[in-house]
Amino acid sequence: MTASFQRVSILGAGTMGHGIAHVCAAAGLPTTLYDIDLSVVEVGFDRIRANLDKGVSLEKITVEERDATLQRIELTSELAYALQHAPLVIEAAPESIEVKLNLFRLVEQRVGEDAVFATNTSSLSISKLAADLRFPGRFLGLHFFNPVHIMKLVEVVVGERTSKHTLDLSVAFARSLGKEPIVVKDSPGFASSRLGIVLGLEAIRMVESGVASPTDIDKAMMLGYRHPMGPLKLTDLVGLDIRLDIAEYLHRTLKSEAFRPPELLRRMVAEGKLGKKTGEGFYRWETE
Ligand code: NAD
Repeated sequence: MTASFQRVSILGAGTMGHGIAHVCAAAGLPTTLYDIDLSVVEVGFDRIRANLDKGVSLEKITVEERDATLQRIELTSELAYALQHAPLVIEAAPESIEVKLNLFRLVEQRVGEDAVFATNTSSLSISKLAADLRFPGRFLGLHFFNPVHIMKLVEVVVGERTSKHTLDLSVAFARSLGKEPIVVKDSPGFASSRLGIVLGLEAIRMVESGVASPTDIDKAMMLGYRHPMGPLKLTDLVGLDIRLDIAEYLHRTLKSEAFRPPELLRRMVAEGKLGKKTGEGFYRWETE
């Protein structure tokens, strides 16, 4: 059971929101999962159930644990209901500053004075998102990774006005979920994307100039540096279009040539070779 919060509300039941709800409920927290439409929340809940079923079949959890986790999750499409008595709210709505700011205005009107409010944004500035909040001290980033129930890392992103109390509670919360939190100052790409993107872009530049094949570049990192997956395969999994967007953003904001998107990346995106989701990137993928 978590030491820091008695319950949690997750706003957005998509790829990340359903995963965050899963790990919170599995850690023993009563969890409210909200989305704008009840059918979307139900799809999120079905995905949680499917992941838990897989856990049962792999003997990682028991049937009782699966059932108890599912029972702790409440579904709603009423924002006011989702925010009632919520000491912790985690937002996992789309990566759009307008969508998030509109949602934040509604959240602020409804949460209690002590509630901690976190965003799962993967790229937006925490300090900018907090600019108009009445209680910016209680706001910070809790950046989970996909798939949330498997990935251990949580970046705890500290905005200019995030209070020490909020930070401490949030670090304890991430630990109580069985995650490994790292504390990162609010800056473009936080810690994970900033490093990961450099490696991925340099690997693409190496393919571009014929240094080695994608398979061999990936092997260099896996066998030489113990990475579980090479940077080009990871680029295929994330999506080349997503990586290009992030590279452009980091190039613009950090003003470093290390983030300049390689021509090969631009060309592949223009040709629709986006990686696993389109069946071709640096590798060929069987379509599911
Ligand atoms: P998604 O599109 O899968 O899910 C977003 C959900 O938000 C959808 O179900 C949508 O119906 C809902 N939504 C739309 N408007 C809303 C509103 N006003 N209030 C509440 N919910 C609303 O997106 P995602 O991949 O889950 O990403 C969510 C956030 O997490 C983004 O900020 C993204 O950058 C971040 N993130 C994504 C990943 C990833 O790998 N997908 C990893 C880390 C962080």
